[in-house]
Amino acid sequence: MKPVFAAKTHDHAACVADALGEAETLCQARGVKLTPLRRAVLELVWDSHRPVGAYDILDQLSKQRGRVAPPTVYRTLDFLLANGLVHRIESLNAFVGCSVGPDVPHSGSFLICTDCGRAAELNDNRIAAAVNLTLQGSGFRPDRHTIEVAGRCADCAAGPEAE
Ligand SMILES: [Zn+2]
Ligand SMILES: [Zn+2]
Ligand SMILES: [Zn+2]
Repeated sequence: MKPVFAAKTHDHAACVADALGEAETLCQARGVKLTPLRRAVLELVWDSHRPVGAYDILDQLSKQRGRVAPPTVYRTLDFLLANGLVHRIESLNAFVGCSVGPDVPHSGSFLICTDCGRAAELNDNRIAAAVNLTLQGSGFRPDRHTIEVAGRCADCAAGPEAE
């Protein structure tokens, strides 16, 4: 399996540009508006590959455009979540941009590095398929899967001498 975390040094501006471009296309296709506020929040979530909390987004947003009320941020995050543009990392109560693509049906499986704080999304339906197989005949109907694996990314596991 190829490394799922972005290289430590990479052109992150390109990640952000890709994400915003895809969001633009998706919203157009779905007939919903990527308002300047929604775009700004999405950009803040994509600020890095580290999941970011709603209050950090609120702080940053308030710096950009003056005081913003918390419900505004939550509503905006709900919109981004509903459209699959971001995921919520339950264990961190934080948000991260979707790197698989909202048009690919998936439910968000993440590797979370406890050293550098980055999260990497797994694009592999075998996990969900295995869970569904396990549940066969149980009568339980899963609505969503939340798979979050904590550990250390290859960079952090290699230690500082690898830098
Ligand atoms: Zn990046
Ligand atoms: Zn995703
Ligand atoms: Zn790491």
